Amino acid sequence: MTRVVLMNPGPVNVDERVRAAIASPDECHREPETRELLARVRGKLATVAGGGDAHTAVLLTGSGTAALEATVSSVVPATGGLLVLDNGHYGERLHRIAQVHGIAVKRLEFGWANPVDLAAVERVLAAEPWLTHVGLVHHETSTGMLNPAGDVGRLAARHGRSLILDAISSIGAEDLDVVADHVGWCVGTANKCLEGLPGISFVLGTRAGFDGLAGIPARTFYLDLHAGYQAQVTGGAPQFTPALQVLRALDVALDLTLAETVAGRGGRYRARAGQLRTGLTDRGVRLLLPPQHRAASITNAWLGGDLTYDELHDGLKQHGFVIYAVQDRVAGSFRLANMGQLTAADIDRFFTAFDAVTARPAVAAVGAGQ
Ligand SMILES: *Cc1c(COP(=O)(O)O)cnc(C)c1O
Repeated sequence: MTRVVLMNPGPVNVDERVRAAIASPDECHREPETRELLARVRGKLATVAGGGDAHTAVLLTGSGTAALEATVSSVVPATGGLLVLDNGHYGERLHRIAQVHGIAVKRLEFGWANPVDLAAVERVLAAEPWLTHVGLVHHETSTGMLNPAGDVGRLAARHGRSLILDAISSIGAEDLDVVADHVGWCVGTANKCLEGLPGISFVLGTRAGFDGLAGIPARTFYLDLHAGYQAQVTGGAPQFTPALQVLRALDVALDLTLAETVAGRGGRYRARAGQLRTGLTDRGVRLLLPPQHRAASITNAWLGGDLTYDELHDGLKQHGFVIYAVQDRVAGSFRLANMGQLTAADIDRFFTAFDAVTARPAVAAVGAGQ
């Protein structure tokens, strides 16, 4: 198999043991072995996120957005409201999901690539008691910014509000502890920093939290979190047919995550990101964020000269590297993700390809800037 190096923020290059797991025997999802699989995956997910026996997870067949939509539509009561902290594309998405479901929502916009202003959040929480939940994106993948989940979680808890955390591109590699960080609902997916395959996403919460959803009328049938919890956790079997082979792969991917440890994986990602960031700045390419705001797995940079994104993307693809554009707003930029099984040698080869495509030194970042 020819290896394409994926530098998009998921799906990622996976370990061969994860890939091998999808060739598991054919199975029915209502048998004891699948029950055990579901229970095992729930337990490992809780462990990865710092949860204990009080925590459990509902698994969904769908990409990360399915789990986000399940959460937002299932946990905010008709009498409550959601405060969305928005500093990028995925903050906007949280807001949009709430709107689609007719949920009362307030959006606090900080602007793309600007940090969350905790004092502003505190003022809103103090002044607007109708906001029962706070929505935050942990790693805002559009800009590569790591938002302070713990600070926001503790602030929300102090004001008696529940934090919905989009941890889709952080769980597995960034520091996250659902207990210490007061995360009410933690949303993740199999195919980013957990290094599984795409098709399964999940929502982690406490059993008490899931039980507490009983009184909230469902806004969707398929993504009803309380019904999913009752079926999967209380009843032991999924309501609907899950992507079983992808779940098998996630089970193996979680073993590899726990063996490497989240801190170890974060260190590995930071080493690769460091190589990318040094290589880019050595070539005169400017990076979007100051170092203190950068997550471990995304580098967002400005295109130099008159090179277009498509030229860079297509040229690198011919050399076997897939890079990613920045959503809508930030023209003249590109993203490099280093999630997944990337080696230091992959990054060295990336720069050989990058130099060939950009025919340096013509890439000098002329006129770059925000
Ligand atoms: C990838 C991602 C999502 C979900 O994307 P899907 O394509 O639905 O998996 C949501 N939030 C963040 C922060 C992400 O990085």
